[in-house]
This record gives sequence, C-alpha cells and structure tokens, in this order.
Amino acid sequence: MKNIKDFTLSELEDELVSIGEKKYRAKQIYAWIFRNVDSFDEMTDLSKELIQKLKENYYIKNLEVANLLKSKDGTIKYLFRLNDGNCIESVLMQYKFGYSACVSNQVGCKMGCNFCASARIGFVRSLTAGEIVSQILEIQKQADVKISNVVFMGIGEPLDNYENVMRAIHIINDPKGLNIGARHISISTCGLVPKIIQLADENDLQCNLCISLHSSRDEVRTSMMPINKKYSIKEVIDACRYYIEKTNRRITFEYALVDGVNDSLDDADHLAKLLKGMLCHVNLIPINKIKDGIYEKSSTKKILAFRDRLNDKGIVATVRRELGSDISAACGQLVRSEKQDNL
Ligand code: SF4
Repeated sequence: MKNIKDFTLSELEDELVSIGEKKYRAKQIYAWIFRNVDSFDEMTDLSKELIQKLKENYYIKNLEVANLLKSKDGTIKYLFRLNDGNCIESVLMQYKFGYSACVSNQVGCKMGCNFCASARIGFVRSLTAGEIVSQILEIQKQADVKISNVVFMGIGEPLDNYENVMRAIHIINDPKGLNIGARHISISTCGLVPKIIQLADENDLQCNLCISLHSSRDEVRTSMMPINKKYSIKEVIDACRYYIEKTNRRITFEYALVDGVNDSLDDADHLAKLLKGMLCHVNLIPINKIKDGIYEKSSTKKILAFRDRLNDKGIVATVRRELGSDISAACGQLVRSEKQDNL
C-alpha cells in the first residue's frame, strides 16, 4: 500500500493512469486531500468503483495525535504517532504575521548535536513527503488555523532526507496543494556541505536556507556539533557563499548562545569577521536547556550585548523570541518523555 499524500500532483496523475484511471481524477483526489479528509469515502465526487480501487492500493491516514501541550503564549506542541508506531513532534507558533508550523522530517536524528534532545532519541528512519505534509494538515485541522509559514526545524536533518523534503516542499508550495509561498518555507541544516551545494544548483523554489552555526571556531563547534569534524566551518561558509552567489538569497545563521561557551564579545567579533560581506542575517537563540543537558542558557544581558556587538560590526543580528519554553519547546523533548514513560 502506498501513502496517497506522498505524491506531487503530476506524480499522482501518473499513478492514476497506472491503475487504469483518467488523469483528471488526480486533481479531484488532490483537492480532497487538501480539504483534509481522513478517508476515501469522504471523496463524494468519485465513483464507488474508484473509491474501492483507491482503498485497495493506497492509504490516506498516516498520523494521529498522541499527545499535545499548550503553552501560555499560545504555542502548541504536538506529539504525532505515525502508522508504524514511531512518534515525531511538530509545533504551532503564532506570530504577528500569522501561524507558523515547525515540522519534523525524520524519526530521531543521526547528527548528534550535543544541545539537542532529538539526538538522544537516536536515528530510526526518514519521513516520507506525505508524513511531512500531514503534520501541517493535522495541525490546521486540530487548531482550526491556516498555516502561512513552515520551518523544517523539528526532529531530523532535512538535507539528510533531501528527496522527501524537496518533494514535501513542492506539495506545500503547490497552489493546488497547501499553497504556501516558497519564501515562507525555511530549511534549517547543521551544514551538510554537498547538499547545500546541490540545493544551490537545484533550488528553483527560492525557499529560505538557515545554517545552524553556533560557533565561528572549529574547536568549539566540534564540541557542540560532531558534524563539524566532517565539514569544517570554512567548508560550510564556502558552500554558503556559493549558495548566495547562485540564488542571490540571504542566508540565516542560527547561533544558540551557551553560557561561557560561545557568548563572549570576543566570540561576537570572531563571528563578525567570519561573516563579513556576506548576504546574511544572524538569528541569536537563547538555548533551551534539555534534560541531562550540559549547556546553560546565556543571560539576557550577554545575549543583548552579543547582538549589539554584531550590529556594530555591520552584521544584522536579532534575538529569536522564546516561544513555548514552559512546554519543553526544544525539539525531541516530548518524544523523549513519551519513550521514558513507556519504558
Ligand atoms: S540540532 Fe538538528 S541536526 Fe542537530 S541533532 Fe538536533 S535535529 Fe539533528
């Protein structure tokens, strides 16, 4: 059985033809998917025979809400259970510009970042495009909102699940799909250099690229993110310069400030030197402490001083608003607590 939500519209047209149906049926089915129905029986403009054929070859329901936490600030964190029993997290956030969904793209993650709860889950598998898209559809249904922004900052490394993430982005962006503009879709990577280059060469969609940098010094970055042993900061920055040159798009560098590790004014000066002349923005993140984590959040005073120092040096930097800190907002924390509850 195949997940009917895994297909782009043109792929679904080919699928329908392959089971002996007319191509135009795909548009009808696609419209029902994005009207968020849970069963083929609800597709009332299809014949009984076609509905039967769909049931025999495909499934439509691919996740359910296993748990949900609501923050005082309106942020809602969902724990979704997939058909195979694995769990992932997605977050709904409300901003002045509308609703944003933070989605997962893998069950667990291979990258092993030291500050991340997802790394502690261990890698299980990558999600399909349909499982990614379904997170947004389910959030819209549960919260009765229209999502206008999607960020790939949940569990998993999106560029390690490149094909499925790209297919999901096409479906999210498609006017007949979720119809969310590419400029409202962001991919966050820990810095998989060959994939950044591939994205630069192929990204016809103009979505946003964010790099989890967290330090401008190799020694410190390696201590926080093992991937830095494979791709040094210089290699990541060179790939970013190539991306900017090819796409003319601004890159966001994410920098989680950790007390006594990467938050001195000297660190700010070093970072400003590294990013000098680049079309970029630095997003400073007050780190979310994870259970058993070794890192402590920098003080607000230090965070603001770091931001001001970067701005003084000509690097545009802002501090990310903390959302959902009362509901374990760092990705992977809810899955971890679910696993521990089930031990
Ligand atoms: S921060 Fe991202 S890349 Fe690193 S372990 Fe967590 S999910 Fe994976």
